[in-house]
Amino acid sequence: MVVPAVSSALRPGGTIGVLGGGQLGRMIAISAAQLGYRTHIFCQHEDDPAAQVAGIVTIAPYDDKGAIDRFAQNCDVVTLEFENIPTWVVNQIAQIRPMRPGSRVLEVAQDRVREKDFINWLDIETAAYRSVDSKAELHAAHLALGGRMVVKTRRLGYDGKGQKWIEHSGEISEAWKQLAGAPSIAEAAVDFTAEISVIAARGIDGAVAAYVPVENRHIDGILDRTIAPALIDDTLADKAVAIAEKIVTALDLVGVLAVEMFVTEGGRLLVNEIAPRPHNSGHWTIDACAVSQFEQVVRAVAGLPLGNPARHSDADMRNLIGGDADKWAEFVSEPGACLHLYGKNETRPGRKMGHVTYLKRVSERGRG
Ligand code: AMP
Repeated sequence: MVVPAVSSALRPGGTIGVLGGGQLGRMIAISAAQLGYRTHIFCQHEDDPAAQVAGIVTIAPYDDKGAIDRFAQNCDVVTLEFENIPTWVVNQIAQIRPMRPGSRVLEVAQDRVREKDFINWLDIETAAYRSVDSKAELHAAHLALGGRMVVKTRRLGYDGKGQKWIEHSGEISEAWKQLAGAPSIAEAAVDFTAEISVIAARGIDGAVAAYVPVENRHIDGILDRTIAPALIDDTLADKAVAIAEKIVTALDLVGVLAVEMFVTEGGRLLVNEIAPRPHNSGHWTIDACAVSQFEQVVRAVAGLPLGNPARHSDADMRNLIGGDADKWAEFVSEPGACLHLYGKNETRPGRKMGHVTYLKRVSERGRG
């Protein structure tokens, strides 16, 4: 057996810092523990999902420079579980410890215009779009894009928040008012047949390992269900994987990157969004793959070789949103339901409380 060079890797017992205390951080911490690492979570509330399972927790706002410094000094390497962290924080940490991914990746992923500019620069398709900073520019974008479009704030939108659909020019004033004049992007509506995503991990040695493309179904802008693998032909699946690999490599990212894409009737793939962290559409990998997306992040940032992203089962992941999680007793009694709850004690409509994954015998599609 060839033993890869792991001499420079973080040794078991080392501490991985995670910026953010949500469910993604929680699942990173669980994977880190499996590999013998400690996790230090930087978050805002002591009862956050990740704080509940971590060895060390710092509770402080992101603008507390002293807390950021002390946190970094107490970690061996730092990663993140959400991308909207001020870049100066990430730069400050990078002066003290390796920060993976770094601020260059965040600068692209935090801003929908820069993100789409970057993707097009790589010769990868997106919806047609215009950067919009005023109502007049929104009118101009509507004329240029020709008809139905969606306007999204450039920054800080998620799960369909900060988005307005515009069918005709009479709706522009109201949409601009509702977006509160925030710098925005107008995108032509894509007539898609499916939404898919690919999660690609990249190690410090530049090795890339992608999971099979999956299909994502949303309700009210929130992911409801992920079907793994996506029911697309192998040529398109290979193309989707190649797109994700190209982006993760061009970003020089160490960690994992989720790439969301639209599939059109004619078999085109248009990238909608990227996220430089584990992604909801990759939760199925915990139960259906030997190495999950969360373990890949840990492996990547710790300098270990990436694990094998092949699946041993097909999977159907259902998100438990709001009151869905109240049915936990039914799920735990259901043979074959792999239940994951995030420890959130307050149920709110639209809040991701957990997920359930159902496994099926692996299909030939996208195998290996
Ligand atoms: P986003 O926040 O960009 O992921 O958008 C949330 C959801 O809105 C996506 O998953 C799509 O279902 C839909 N959507 C976003 N942008 C477009 C677009 N340009 N054309 C059609 N549907 C879109």
